[in-house]
Amino acid sequence: MARQSYANMKEITIIAGPCAVESKDQIEKTAEFLAKLGVKILRGGAFKPRTNPDDFQGLGEEGLKLLRAAADKFGMQVITEVMDPRDIEMVSKYADILQIGSRNMHNSPFLAELGKQKKPLLLKRGMSATLNEFLQAVRYIEKAGNKNILLCERGERTFHDETRFTLNLGSIPAIKSKSNYPLIVDPSHAAGNRDYVIAMAKGAIAAGADGLMIEVHPDPEKALCDGPQALTFTMFEQLMNEI
Ligand code: PEP
Ligand code: MN
Repeated sequence: MARQSYANMKEITIIAGPCAVESKDQIEKTAEFLAKLGVKILRGGAFKPRTNPDDFQGLGEEGLKLLRAAADKFGMQVITEVMDPRDIEMVSKYADILQIGSRNMHNSPFLAELGKQKKPLLLKRGMSATLNEFLQAVRYIEKAGNKNILLCERGERTFHDETRFTLNLGSIPAIKSKSNYPLIVDPSHAAGNRDYVIAMAKGAIAAGADGLMIEVHPDPEKALCDGPQALTFTMFEQLMNEI
């Protein structure tokens, strides 16, 4: 049988790492593992949007330092969430890409403030935002001057409770038809369960996503944040082989 030509296949951007930076050992182990598999962008939260104020909130600037050092050691780029306009300058010292979380998508003064600076931005869709609201949030950033934007679909809040959120595959071609910015899909937060992440990631790529953001942890059972949805290293390697 003739070999298939891959000449026209597009490259899928992979962003991966733990939900939160927890320790030097945790983030270094993860970066080393991911870099070996060719992943170029390391994620890890230092400021975490937690529902419960008593839950782990992230290591703050110390976490950013650990994240930056781990990425530099293994030649990777860093993406991390900024939650507060007062932190934009500080987070920018450590990050290559700034993440705007789902809960902040409707915070238009914050979007405008981020749009004034030059770092690339990954904007997560609000968990209850319509496509129109998502695209208007993008406009706030553009209007402030920054057109270096990545869009991220991370699942919606629906009545379904078999997954943490609902990943609407139809929104992938819909977003792509309305915007030229790259679309990253985050199946980890949508699934809330590591057993579903690989299937959902493959579905997202088949539907036209330009990239994936995946939570992975060296020891998910001990994770301080989002452990149930974090892939183990073995599962992450399987995902990379299957896409
Ligand atoms: C995250 O990426 O860790 C995160 C908190 O995501 P979201 O804003 O989509 O809930
Ligand atoms: Mn998370």
